[in-house]
Amino acid sequence: MAVETSQALQQLHHLLQQLEDAETMLAHGPRRVAAAKNKVTAAELVCEEHKNEIQTLRKTSDQKSLNLKSNEDMILKLNGRLNEASSNKEFDIIQAQLESERLASDALEDEVLSLLSKVDDAEVTLRAAEQDVRQLIERGQEIKADVQAKEPGVREEIERLNREITEAESAIPAGESRGNYERLRASMKSGALSELRKAFCLACNTKVIAQDCVRVKIGEFVTCRECGRILYSAE
Ligand SMILES: [Zn+2]
Repeated sequence: MAVETSQALQQLHHLLQQLEDAETMLAHGPRRVAAAKNKVTAAELVCEEHKNEIQTLRKTSDQKSLNLKSNEDMILKLNGRLNEASSNKEFDIIQAQLESERLASDALEDEVLSLLSKVDDAEVTLRAAEQDVRQLIERGQEIKADVQAKEPGVREEIERLNREITEAESAIPAGESRGNYERLRASMKSGALSELRKAFCLACNTKVIAQDCVRVKIGEFVTCRECGRILYSAE
């Protein structure tokens, strides 16, 4: 009888541990799916930022190109006036204006070229970011499929374990002991039980008094005086 009780409690402990693992796995699935989804959202946000950057660069570049165009028109106009200058003084004034417009024109041209080059770079970065999004979406779909494929098996296992646990729980005497066990299980899951090995409670590593060791060996319902767990012997 004593050996049977210990074996049943050991089996119960083992089943509770398996149940805990299965429940963790079941909860882990949706978390994996959610984490993959969050990665996609973050990567999409990065793409949006790159798109906005490109749009701003293009707008600035278009504006500068317009400025350049009116600058060039002005140069044409000044060239015309230069030919019609009626005095050396007027000629010099127009010449100075022309010089200043040409400098401004060169500067604008440089700015436009630099902006267009930045647009090119930003587009390369955007394409890489869009590739990231596609890969993350694919990965997310794989994870979702994996989780969905595993879920029924895990649920079945949980059902089976719960049935076996109910059977194994018959080793715990009704009444106070049963109430004690149910409270422990509710708060500590598989931690409700602990193996007694070489007079030590394995869960809290405390030496169990000789009298309790004997009681465990003869199949009584004994809890660890230190951590409160139900003790069983596998020796
Ligand atoms: Zn203990």
